[in-house]
Amino acid sequence: KYKTLSYNRVLEIHKQHISPVVTAYFQKPLLLHQGHMEWLFDFEGNRYLDFFSGIVTVSVGHCHPKVNAAAQKQLGCLWHTSSIFFHPPMHEYAEKLSALLPEPLKVIFLTNSGSEANDLAMLMARVYSNNTDIISFRGAYHGCSPYTLGLTNVGSYKMELPSGMGCQATMCPDVFRGPWGGSHCRDSPVQTIRKCNCATDCCQAKDQYIEQFKDTLNTSVAKSIAGFFAEPIQGVNGVVQYPKGFLKEAFELVRERGGVCIADEVQTGFGRLGSHFWGFQTHDVLPDIVTMAKGIGNGFPMAAVVTTPEIAKSLAKRVLHFNTFGGNPMACAIGSAVLEVIKEDRLQENSQEVGTYMLLKFAKLRDEFEIVGDVRGKGLMIGIEMVKDKMSRQPLPREEINQIHEDCKQMGLLIGRGGIFSQTLRIAPSMCITKPEVDFAVEVFHSALIQHMERRAK
Ligand code: PMP
Repeated sequence: KYKTLSYNRVLEIHKQHISPVVTAYFQKPLLLHQGHMEWLFDFEGNRYLDFFSGIVTVSVGHCHPKVNAAAQKQLGCLWHTSSIFFHPPMHEYAEKLSALLPEPLKVIFLTNSGSEANDLAMLMARVYSNNTDIISFRGAYHGCSPYTLGLTNVGSYKMELPSGMGCQATMCPDVFRGPWGGSHCRDSPVQTIRKCNCATDCCQAKDQYIEQFKDTLNTSVAKSIAGFFAEPIQGVNGVVQYPKGFLKEAFELVRERGGVCIADEVQTGFGRLGSHFWGFQTHDVLPDIVTMAKGIGNGFPMAAVVTTPEIAKSLAKRVLHFNTFGGNPMACAIGSAVLEVIKEDRLQENSQEVGTYMLLKFAKLRDEFEIVGDVRGKGLMIGIEMVKDKMSRQPLPREEINQIHEDCKQMGLLIGRGGIFSQTLRIAPSMCITKPEVDFAVEVFHSALIQHMERRAK
């Protein structure tokens, strides 16, 4: 136990000095003191299995010894020098990261957060294409900066301020909640079971979503666009997967109109999806720009934009672009260690094996409980969508999901939330988790569902 601020003192300071816009999970917020790999410890020494990894961020485990050692070594060497001076950690990192991306995605710009990376990608797309309009999905989250707020299509983040000029939202091809369904259409070991009275073959869904995507393109002001942003699997929107082949066709349509395609790999990158290192590879597409953050630094503030030499040059010709901390030696040393750990500890392989094992186990709960509407995802990015019943697909009321979420915490399991009704429970642990830990998590979740059914029956 740490002898630092008491729990009540932390709450007092939070109330007085921390912006009220900073909200916490749980009725009684967790006060954490320590992390070790996939485990977290609170101020009283209680242990939690961290199945949300600081919002899909702690990619290789809390305080991984190799990452810690790299940070400590760099700490005693050189903390900071803006990119006006060169330093080996940045160049070593650039070489390592670019080796993980296919040609021609070889030019890197380092930033500190996903929002900054996406801001820069928007700028690049507009400068390169000489167009303005950028398209993103409904439900997408691409950041909270004034520029990226235009791309983030989640109502609770939007303000009554003119933001997002030139940004267009298009319907998200969500095969569970969207109007056209699409069972057997997604790239996951678990397929949608959509109980409905719908007479159409759900596999036509992709074509219908593509038709409406074309309509968005045709309603953009100039009919020529700057770019299209997509997460390979939507995170904040509740682990939403698109029908197979959708992104490939969408990319072609965007390019026909002069736009570039941007893959936001902030949540899906670095091996989390198991079968591939990058999420875009699971859709068999090659983006023009890839943005990444979160897992890139295992929790250290760090992010990157990777693009082609041609797009990078077009920006350099027109503007100066500068970021004081982007590519700082600490971040780069940590980023390099993270890449080494992913390889040495075979974490992508672990995501594939343990992730698939977990998906199939959770899918069994979908068969057992009427309120588990959908179980989906890939590797270690899993969503469990909670519904009133499978036929209506109406979201389970928020208070009921809150209770299930709390009950999991009480039993030592931390999971995330997502979706516009906050109806999807999100699971994205550090990639080092093991099958026995998955068994524990599934057991806890099962107990939380049983408790819920008992409360309902009273
Ligand atoms: N893109 C995606 C897909 C994200 O999930 C997030 C963060 N939730 C961002 C961008 C923004 O990243 P940051 O919070 O580091 O600005």
